[in-house]
Amino acid sequence: MTAPLTLENEIRRLIAVAGPMPVARYMALCLTHPQHGYYVTRDPFGAGGDFTTAPEVSQIFGELLGLWALSVWHMLGRPQSIRLVELGPGRGTLMRDALRAAKVMPKFREAIRLHLVDVSPTLEKLQQTALSDIDVPKIWHRHLLEVPEDGPAIVLANEFFDALPVHQAVRQADGWHERTIGLDANGNFALALAADPIPQFDRFLPPAIRQAEVGAMFEWRDDVYVYDLARRVRSNGAALIVDYGHVETGLGETLQSVNAHAFSDPLSAPGFADITAHVDFQAVRRAAESVGAAVQGPVTQGEFLSELGIQARAEALRRAASAEQAANITAGVARLIEGGRTGMGELFKVMALCDPKLGPLPGLQTK
Ligand code: SAH
Repeated sequence: MTAPLTLENEIRRLIAVAGPMPVARYMALCLTHPQHGYYVTRDPFGAGGDFTTAPEVSQIFGELLGLWALSVWHMLGRPQSIRLVELGPGRGTLMRDALRAAKVMPKFREAIRLHLVDVSPTLEKLQQTALSDIDVPKIWHRHLLEVPEDGPAIVLANEFFDALPVHQAVRQADGWHERTIGLDANGNFALALAADPIPQFDRFLPPAIRQAEVGAMFEWRDDVYVYDLARRVRSNGAALIVDYGHVETGLGETLQSVNAHAFSDPLSAPGFADITAHVDFQAVRRAAESVGAAVQGPVTQGEFLSELGIQARAEALRRAASAEQAANITAGVARLIEGGRTGMGELFKVMALCDPKLGPLPGLQTK
């Protein structure tokens, strides 16, 4: 009898054929497997889903990112045609709000050629619906590599990089060993370490990390995505990355699995839970600068949105709202800018990669 076609069985088969796989490969399969990947098969957002993102918390988030893009278009010399790219647009909410706000400058709206990059056909459908009555040319892509490279570009990426596969390695006496997922004696998925250390791994690490003690864990992502993004914006462009993560490269595990708004075991039910890890903004900076892009920020999401005028916009919305709606607006803003356990204002950071010729971009200057 052949096993049913589930992602769990597919991963078992791959391990049986090729041996334990790096955590990054497992994560990529869980999230983006063409048939069974988490994002490919569902709409994970909102109260009835697994998690809620900033554009789903408040329309002001997308509106302010739209106005940020408008300012950058001005700084780029108001080109007649500009590629506006969003990485991982989710339900399309951010872009819908951004383009509504961009109506204040019809010339900008007319210049926009929209490129939406999403691995998920399911989410692409939702994005098409969300953007159906918006009259700008739109093209969907499964990968950033498919987006043409010439000409000015503005890129927005909210909670995209955290979903890119992360590698883990653990320090041992003889070097760093990559963490893998294999099968235990009972045939269950089990974490293990590769038998051999990764050759020359220390050479790629910041000096402080090289001193790590035996047992310490280090996480990293492949730099190719940042290289590709940075190359596209280093002359005549800017990319805004908003995500949870840390400003400096550090040690420790941040890989997490989330299901129905609660943490779950990443090894149970592959393809049915979101798996993410914090973004290492220092690593993003290093990769972007190494191919000639300038970097501004990171600042916290709270600082960024406050600087862009979130309170004034909330006040304007409240004036036209019922008492209940006004309370929701206030609560949404608090969630976006406050710190603490439930707030997104401090954990989330905002960083721009851009053309070194551009001056200070809105919201990204640290005080
Ligand atoms: N930006 C949205 C959604 C964030 S969730 C929001 O803030 O609400 C991550 C998004 O990235 C989803 O739309 C998912 O389908 C997409 N995605 C995840 N991994 C991807 C990959 N490797 N390539 C392209 N899109 C990806």
